[in-house]
Amino acid sequence: MAEKLKIIPLGGLDEIGKNITVLEYGKDMIVVDCGLGFPEEDMYGVDLVIPDFSYLVANAKKLRGMFITHGHEDHIGSIPYCMQQVSCPIHGTAMTCGLIKLKLEEHRLDKVKLITHKPGESVKAGCFTVEFIHVNHSIADAVAFAIHTPVGTVVMTGDFKIDPTATDGMIDLARLGQLGNEGVLALLADSTNAERQGYTPNEHLVTESLDRQFKNCDQRIIVTTFASNMYRIAGVIAAAERHGRKVAVTGRSMENMLKVAQELGYLKVKPGTIVELGAIKSLPKNKIVIVSTGSQGENMSALYRMAFSTHKQVDITAGDRIIISASAIPGNEKAVSKIINELYRKGADVVYEKSEGLHVSGHACQEELKIIHGLCKPKFFIPVHGEQRHLQIHSRLAKLMGMNPKNILIGEIGSTFELTKRTCKLGSTVPAGMVLVDGTGVGDVGSVVLRDRKHLAEDGMIVVCVNLSAEDGSVITGPDIITRGFIYVKESEELIDELREVAMEAIDRCHRKRIRDWTAIKSAIKSDISGYLYKNTKRNPMVLPVIMEI
Ligand SMILES: [Zn+2]
Ligand SMILES: [Zn+2]
Repeated sequence: MAEKLKIIPLGGLDEIGKNITVLEYGKDMIVVDCGLGFPEEDMYGVDLVIPDFSYLVANAKKLRGMFITHGHEDHIGSIPYCMQQVSCPIHGTAMTCGLIKLKLEEHRLDKVKLITHKPGESVKAGCFTVEFIHVNHSIADAVAFAIHTPVGTVVMTGDFKIDPTATDGMIDLARLGQLGNEGVLALLADSTNAERQGYTPNEHLVTESLDRQFKNCDQRIIVTTFASNMYRIAGVIAAAERHGRKVAVTGRSMENMLKVAQELGYLKVKPGTIVELGAIKSLPKNKIVIVSTGSQGENMSALYRMAFSTHKQVDITAGDRIIISASAIPGNEKAVSKIINELYRKGADVVYEKSEGLHVSGHACQEELKIIHGLCKPKFFIPVHGEQRHLQIHSRLAKLMGMNPKNILIGEIGSTFELTKRTCKLGSTVPAGMVLVDGTGVGDVGSVVLRDRKHLAEDGMIVVCVNLSAEDGSVITGPDIITRGFIYVKESEELIDELREVAMEAIDRCHRKRIRDWTAIKSAIKSDISGYLYKNTKRNPMVLPVIMEI
């Protein structure tokens, strides 16, 4: 039987984030992207979510290379965690590699081979030839891949949009059309904005809006956006230059981005425009722009610290004009609104409304998606980079374009799409899912730990301490009741006294029945206390009996 091409998404399907896709044929395997997911609200204390790499680890010998479409966290964020487990060269464009390099250095992974390519170049990796194709997105140097395999060409768009005004040139539609004419076996395309009609507005729109905001403003201006959106940062700096203002940057990720972009010559700035943050004190207010992190309300970000007066160098003062040039990612709205409220409280003037044209998306809307489908004319279509509804709507769009519904396949993470020159089927599944990173530990937070954290966060904790005699099991000291996050003890001494009695009765009962097994005593204390609390307070804190023998 002829070998089949396997396309296996290990992340990014039916979820937003942690994009990673495996392509496998015979003895060869490549990986496209290796991103982070972000923890959901009920994952208490979890910092990061990374893909499950066990399939890669099990097939490490086949791995010929990792190819990265662009430098966003949901495409590069898990690289250090992956490279701790497998090894292969990483290929990307200059900007992408510059950002990956910072990550690898942070994790002291200096042995990983990072290879830079230009759009238009092709790389051989085992039986695959991977071609880099220029696309537009909200970060510089983003590419799509045309992966030439023994059974045909697979086009993976990566994150993209069509922006004819892009400073680094419009997406290479000509090459995509050419590939379409030569024959595309399968298309995997970005579904983020599949629900949105029309076209994504050009970045140029934001430039005009910024000019409007800068004009006639005689106050200090603070702009916040995604640190990774280099076009936007470049746009802000250019606007500052047009309006005779100096620019200072604050926030680690913003400083990193600026460093990489300047080193690579992606950011053209007049000498003297960028000043140290410390230098702004000596400048008049109408000569300053501060570019800051914090557009998502992150509570360690520079904007947050400025708003809550914990920033070492900048404090928000009345009259400051704050421009939020980003939209809140679902889930971050509360955090963003908290900052906006605080900024208003300080007397600042905050501009953040969508109608102001201060942000445009980096992803293609329906009409742009149709253009890509029309150019690539794929035999098979697999929607990626989206939640279930985005995938479904994107597949409807493909049907509208005349695709045979049988040739459109929606999978899940871990699904194996098996392709021959003529067929595409869903095969068996491989392990895929999420691994939680908590502080420095990887994968040591299980569902039980999360359940406990949720419990603690919602209802708090009660610890019952008691010292029992080693001789006859009678109570020597205690029981003492310690509470955290449940009630404020000083106001509830009565309840604490009652709990002490309930615990005492439970221990006595065990003592009378000559129960000496600690587990049994603990469970008696626990169930009596929990029952009592629920009856009297309708709450259900975690109860932790601690017994010591003296
Ligand atoms: Zn992206
Ligand atoms: Zn993405």
